[in-house]
Amino acid sequence: MVLHVGSYRISLDMREPEANLNFVSHAHSDHTGGVKKNADILCSEITRDLVQARTKYPLRAVEIPDGVSLLSSGHMLGAKQLCAESESMGTIVYTGDYQMQKSPVAEEIEVRSADTLIIDSTYPFPNIVFENREEVMTSMQHYVRSKMDRGCTLFGSYSMGKAQELISICNGMGVSPLVDKNIAKISDVYSKHGVKLDYLCRGIEMGITDDDFREPVWIVSMHNMNKVRMHVSKMGRKIFTAVATGFAAMQRFNTDVQFALSDHADFKQALEYISMCSPKRIYTRGSGCDSFARNLRAHGYDAQTLGTGFGKNGVLMNYA
Ligand SMILES: [Zn+2]
Repeated sequence: MVLHVGSYRISLDMREPEANLNFVSHAHSDHTGGVKKNADILCSEITRDLVQARTKYPLRAVEIPDGVSLLSSGHMLGAKQLCAESESMGTIVYTGDYQMQKSPVAEEIEVRSADTLIIDSTYPFPNIVFENREEVMTSMQHYVRSKMDRGCTLFGSYSMGKAQELISICNGMGVSPLVDKNIAKISDVYSKHGVKLDYLCRGIEMGITDDDFREPVWIVSMHNMNKVRMHVSKMGRKIFTAVATGFAAMQRFNTDVQFALSDHADFKQALEYISMCSPKRIYTRGSGCDSFARNLRAHGYDAQTLGTGFGKNGVLMNYA
């Protein structure tokens, strides 16, 4: 899908052949399809640095064009929504991933009134309800404290966004966690942009020493979790295991404990967002978009999935 704004044809978190400007809402890999060699991207400076940390060739972020503004989405550090002004259609907002609750390591969401809203659909069902983040974070701290005398707690985490939040939660209880190299690299970018995080990095994914067991919390990328578990098991030691993700509200993980700490809006938060945005029409996007549109219609909104009402190939035309 491409948004036409003046002379720009802006892709939204995807690679589109007809686009001449690629908007990247945030640095998670399922939203960086528009990043390619020798092409400018429209994103925040922080997102550019986070994507650059995982990209070999140099990336350039363009100046924000006239008629376009970027608004914080609350999802992770640097994450933005795109807002475009159009003479014919008024204001259009595309959210990307977003949340209404405040994360300790991300900017608070900005909600602007819009005529047309294109909204992410990660949690489209009313029966998935996330608890208050403060309460989930307090539960995590209680769990870690309760295990400190008996061993370490190993968290498996997405290395970008969630891991930094876990470090911040540990720092809040006076603990500097041990992290793997992936997480340290991304956390360095967070520090560069003013998010102070204290952590230790000794290459825990490559091997573990007796000294490492003195650190009460270890945080590793999801793909390193089994590797670390095997190192621990070969040493004949025991650790406690945990994950923190919104998907913990829907599925069981192979860990001692799981916490439903999400950086996305649940359905209730989506309704709160839409109420503040008060759009005339809504287009849902992403996995679950059909269910999300149906559930929004049940609440009285003019909602449909992208690909209908946009002309051929779902292209959003002539909006400026
Ligand atoms: Zn994301």
